[in-house]
Amino acid sequence: MVKIETHVVGPLQTNCYLIILPSNRVLMIDPGGPEVEIIAKQVKTDGQIISDILVTHAHFDHYNWGKLVKNIFEKAKIWIGEEDSKILPEIFDWGNNFNISTPQYFDPDELIQKNTTLEFDNLSLTCIDSPGHTPGSTVYFLKEMKVAFTGDVLFKQSIGRTDFPFCDPGDMESTLLHLTKILPDETRILPGHGESTSMGEEKSSNPFLISLSRGLNIF
Ligand SMILES: [Zn+2]
Repeated sequence: MVKIETHVVGPLQTNCYLIILPSNRVLMIDPGGPEVEIIAKQVKTDGQIISDILVTHAHFDHYNWGKLVKNIFEKAKIWIGEEDSKILPEIFDWGNNFNISTPQYFDPDELIQKNTTLEFDNLSLTCIDSPGHTPGSTVYFLKEMKVAFTGDVLFKQSIGRTDFPFCDPGDMESTLLHLTKILPDETRILPGHGESTSMGEEKSSNPFLISLSRGLNIF
């Protein structure tokens, strides 16, 4: 059975998820704080291996501490949407604006092309291109388990900000509408910050999704 663990990490309370496969292979999503070092050491103690680190988008509170995991699991690959890899060097140090220091710059290992499906053992992970909050935001969807990791695109009762450099409000609207169409209502939504929810719950109560479904602009 595939297990999913949630750890809240870092200065901005990022949800760092572990997807633990039956083979003891582990995928990490969003290494957003220094605690990932402790998490990775525990994974190792438990006899498991982090093989891949999937990043939802290039903001420092989702990417920057991946290096600490790679120091423990040297073969672990860091994945990020191709469009976000282009802005990563420029925005890597944004933490400085919040007086937050992070590890030094490092390149990702693998770039995710738009709307591809990755296979990890028998697990299929669909990478849904979700621009708006950043140009290369990616929603990771476990279709068989009906679980979606939505990063800073969709939160419980809210959506990601679109007022930072490289945001695009129009793209955000298209992305959100697309997600409401392709993710079944029973899909568990595991966001980049805050509590989990479901797509059905958000469609019926998230004010932004309700406005979009009525054809209204939300920005
Ligand atoms: Zn973000």
